[in-house]
Amino acid sequence: MMLHDKFGRQITDLRISVTDRCNFRCVYCRSADPENYREHDEILSWPELNRLASIFKTLGIRKMRVTGGEPLVRPGVEDFISHLRALGVEDISMTTNGHLLADRCARLVSSGLNRINISLDSLDSGKFERITRTKSFASVMNGIDAVQSSTLAPAKINAVLVRGINDDEVERFAIFARERGLIMRFIEFMPLDGDRHWTRDVVVPAAEVYERIHSRWPLEQIPHHHSETARKYRFADGTHGEIGLIAPVTQPFCGHCSRIRLTADGKIRTCLFSKEDHDLRSLLREGASDEDLEIYIRSVVMEKEEGHRINHADFRPPTRSMVFIGG
Ligand code: SF4
Repeated sequence: MMLHDKFGRQITDLRISVTDRCNFRCVYCRSADPENYREHDEILSWPELNRLASIFKTLGIRKMRVTGGEPLVRPGVEDFISHLRALGVEDISMTTNGHLLADRCARLVSSGLNRINISLDSLDSGKFERITRTKSFASVMNGIDAVQSSTLAPAKINAVLVRGINDDEVERFAIFARERGLIMRFIEFMPLDGDRHWTRDVVVPAAEVYERIHSRWPLEQIPHHHSETARKYRFADGTHGEIGLIAPVTQPFCGHCSRIRLTADGKIRTCLFSKEDHDLRSLLREGASDEDLEIYIRSVVMEKEEGHRINHADFRPPTRSMVFIGG
């Protein structure tokens, strides 16, 4: 029986965070202060992740996305993807900051990866370094080139827009998509940053991004599946490349949400903005059977939140910041 919640939503997508470590320190995600990483033994081992992946597959999960922190910093991630492929997972994707991608792209492809999203919040190397607090612009661009010349093409580029930081680059990103034939996705900034600096004023609404691009390069909407997070557009003049708009704040898509998350330390999060975690790791390490784990997962998913409540007066950001949840 497929996994579903009390609102009748079928849960078919699992985002698996394989590490809470990251080699970037993006201002909208990670705190400037040293954070308390989980101890190594608190993080699920690869055998534990393999077992849980097979249980979730049995429960009807069709799509699995490998995230972090930064997934490529954990050795063995390609073998994990091969395991997911061997399980028969229909769609295996990854979200990465691209820093290590150029050297790993071929191995990711041969391990069975279907799709990849690369985070890139600025095309200005100086600004990129200020946002990520790294000197990795060139390596990320090399990573994008590697994907564009592989079977993972077209690369999906994720840019989180923050008013006053990179909202001046919307048109430049659109040109980037047109010149390289890639999928440029603009994501509204969500209240999940480590330093809690999020305010509504710094959110750049997707409608504004649409207007700015459409007024210069007319866009045509591409039909999309209702559980997809992005509204997708092609260029009406036939130029290759696509634009994706992800508007969790101004146009929430929770009504059709099909996602749950597994954190690196073995907690189920039924929503990005869940107020509570559900501890699968303890059950696993206390010797629970596969059947026990399935029953537990079903009961947790049944209680999945209706939505994120960002636009409600009583909204409070979750205690976990993005780096400890995974994209
Ligand atoms: S905020 Fe929560 S319910 Fe809404 S789309 Fe995201 S994960 Fe799903």
